[in-house]
Amino acid sequence: MPNPDSAQVYQVSDLGKMDFGPSPLAVLGYPVKHSVSPPMHNAALQEMSRKNPQYREWAYYKFEVPPEKLIESLPLFAEKGFLGLNCTIPHKTVVLPALSEVTGGARRKGAVNTLKRKGDIYTGDNTDGFGLQKAVVETLGLSLTECPVILLGAGGAARAAAAQCLEQGASDLWIGNRNQERLQALVGALREWSPQTRIRTFSLKNIPYEGLPAGALVVNSTSVGMQVKDPLPIDPRKLSACRGIYDMIYSPPETLLMQAALEAGIPAANGMAMLVWQGVKALEIWTGEPVPVAPMRTACEKALTDKE
Ligand code: NAP
Repeated sequence: MPNPDSAQVYQVSDLGKMDFGPSPLAVLGYPVKHSVSPPMHNAALQEMSRKNPQYREWAYYKFEVPPEKLIESLPLFAEKGFLGLNCTIPHKTVVLPALSEVTGGARRKGAVNTLKRKGDIYTGDNTDGFGLQKAVVETLGLSLTECPVILLGAGGAARAAAAQCLEQGASDLWIGNRNQERLQALVGALREWSPQTRIRTFSLKNIPYEGLPAGALVVNSTSVGMQVKDPLPIDPRKLSACRGIYDMIYSPPETLLMQAALEAGIPAANGMAMLVWQGVKALEIWTGEPVPVAPMRTACEKALTDKE
């Protein structure tokens, strides 16, 4: 029975040397040391094995895979029996050409984070948008469609968030970014498959507070706030009747944006719930069964606290 060390970082060269058990899973990233996915998934598998002994054979590992080696390494993971893989930075788009099928949702999000083995190749899905949707309801009691959404960022996480808003039927979406070229490229892609939705844009360098909608949910998908010295990406106190701030950043656990919001009486939450729910959905895709959320959340909280 596998007994995975959730902190151990493996290399692709370890695939030929080690036994990862009959039903392995893994996250591939570069770097990957920071990933809390192994403790999260192993905690859920342990809980699931109480009812179904087959999950005693399942185990989740982390592999450091350089981007230039990613495509050639996938058949090795398949050969070694890896049933499912998560891709994290910088692999979410690099991996696309190597997959046999990609779900419509993942295509719209322009990235995959969840691979499932089908024979000797993998199919791709994206669970980040689902994670955001569940997290916003759970932490702020808001849906992505009940109020205007002001999304900050135009990178991979912002694209997943924007696509999820449109899939859910959001009708009032505003996107702000620093780099306008990147922002227009994102909006162009979104409009291609959802021409009926009105998407409005603005610059984070000169935020038009007066023109932004009242009563909005703000989702921060920029990386501004990951460093303690980072400025506010937007000032929630200058927004009219802001309903809530969802900051995708989970480390540090409370960003300056969250602090400013909470001090002004605006509900705010960090990205941990999104991280947990994207993991729950990935494990559901691999097992085909409902996944217990509580052990994943507890393991995630512990792993993030231990890192601080
Ligand atoms: P990315 O593709 O590199 O995009 C980074 C975004 O941040 C871009 O919009 C970039 O704007 C903006 N940005 C960076 N530095 C900035 C600055 N100094 N001022 C203004 N804007 C700045 O990264 P990503 O993958 O989308 O990730 C973004 C964040 O989401 C990260 O903090 C990541 O940890 C978090 N995330 C969380 C989860 C979760 O489960 N909670 C999942 C995915 C991502 P420009 O285009 O102007 O450079």
